[in-house]
Amino acid sequence: MRNSALDSSPTVSVSCGNPGLNIAAPQCRLSPLLPLVVLAALAGHAQAGNVVLPDEAPIPLLREQAAPLGERAVPPVETSPPVLAAGEIACRSDLARLGVSFADMPAVEAEGGCRLPHPIRVTTLGAAISLRPAAIINCNTARAAAQLVQQAGRKAAEAHLKSPIEAVNHASAYVCRVRRGTVHLSQHAFGNALDIASLTLADGKHVAVREYEDAESPEALFLDAFRTAACGLFTTVLGPGADADHADHLHLDMKRRRGGAYCR
Ligand SMILES: [Zn+2]
Repeated sequence: MRNSALDSSPTVSVSCGNPGLNIAAPQCRLSPLLPLVVLAALAGHAQAGNVVLPDEAPIPLLREQAAPLGERAVPPVETSPPVLAAGEIACRSDLARLGVSFADMPAVEAEGGCRLPHPIRVTTLGAAISLRPAAIINCNTARAAAQLVQQAGRKAAEAHLKSPIEAVNHASAYVCRVRRGTVHLSQHAFGNALDIASLTLADGKHVAVREYEDAESPEALFLDAFRTAACGLFTTVLGPGADADHADHLHLDMKRRRGGAYCR
């Protein structure tokens, strides 16, 4: 199940001209209130602390009307980077602080309801920690992954495997698809999920996500600690033992849930 963000022929629609904040589009007319908006966004971020989950405020993004289901996708139209809400800006500040390498990408809208308004292309999850291959995901997912790898993941790797994590190898990021066996869109269809297939350590060791016969082996203990730590940073964690679909990877997503995280 490879990342097929670019294979699914998504309709790309990005708009510019909303009198809000646009931080990367010199061709857009900027509001004279821009400095005040920037200050307000930064103040909100400072109050919220370093770990900032997105607010529920609607994103002030003008966009073309999505094509009705069943119609042929309209060719991608790229005009300018999308307008970003304060929560998205704060998240990007967190990524910069965490040393994550990323680039903003055009919004994605595809037939069937797949939608990623503010995608980023992530190539590292911190200094000297690659994300392979580069992943198209949303900022929340990237931030949670970076926190997991840099904090509990780093400690677990050094405690059980005596070497730091050098790369996270994923099997799927943004993909426009439904959950297997259902008609409901996967969190992957919103760039809100990441499937980790294996981790590479600085000493060259490759730790695949799978069931290990010896539950006390260093690899098994490392994966247990990594998986446990993921539950909380992410709201869904599924891996080996949960069901047949997750025997060879950890599915991590940021789905909004009322009843707490779902970890199996
Ligand atoms: Zn998944």
